[in-house]
Order: sequence, then C-alpha cells, then structure tokens
Amino acid sequence: MINKENIAALRAEAWREELRKSKKAKDRTDIPRVHMHELDAAYRITNKEEVNMGLTAEEAVTEASRCLDCPDPTCMTGCPVEINIPTFVKNIERGDFLQAAKVLKQTSALPAVCGRVCPQ
Ligand code: SF4
Repeated sequence: MINKENIAALRAEAWREELRKSKKAKDRTDIPRVHMHELDAAYRITNKEEVNMGLTAEEAVTEASRCLDCPDPTCMTGCPVEINIPTFVKNIERGDFLQAAKVLKQTSALPAVCGRVCPQ
C-alpha cells in the first residue's frame, strides 16, 4: 500500500537524496524532453506495427533526470493504480531498470498496458 509516509520514507533513502542533490533543480528543468522514436508515418499506414519504438537506456536516463523528485509528487495524483512514479523514475535515473520495473509491479498487474495507455 502506497501512502504519504512510505512515499516520504522512500524519498529519504540515502541513494535517492544523493541523486537528488547531484543536479540543481534548474539544471533538471533545463534538460530538453526526450522524444520517443516513432515509426515513419509513410511506413506505419501500411501495417499495424506499434508506432512508439521506445527509448534507449541512455535516453531513458536523460528523461528521468528531468524529474525533480518532488516532496509532494503531484504526478501520482490521479494515477488509478497508485504507481510510485518518482521512485520508478529515480531508479531509471540511477540506471537500475530492474528495480524500476519492480516498483511498477508493486501496484500494477499490467505495467506494459499502463505504459501504452497512460496519457501522462
Ligand atoms: S515526475 Fe513527479 S516527482 Fe518528478 S518532477 Fe514530476 S511531479 Fe515531481
């Protein structure tokens, strides 16, 4: 169960604090959004392949570096499966993709579906 106390406790972990302090908030907000690669429009009208092609590991880390690790993470407000988004994102930023996947699976039985249908 995700609640304010364990969100705060996870945010206070030493690795997370160190990661948060490794960049100034301004430097994080200055990082341009990483756009996901997509199939070319002329090609995709010829088939039913998935349009989004995902990010490379390096791109995912860069995108995760944009997260400010807010004390009151509004990204979680409204998430119907209560994914601990900043904990997921910060694990991506430190390159621990397995742990990031474990965070998703704590509250979502269908993380691959969420990754495709979530508008955020
Ligand atoms: S993803 Fe969540 S924790 Fe990160 S900057 Fe956005 S609102 Fe804050």
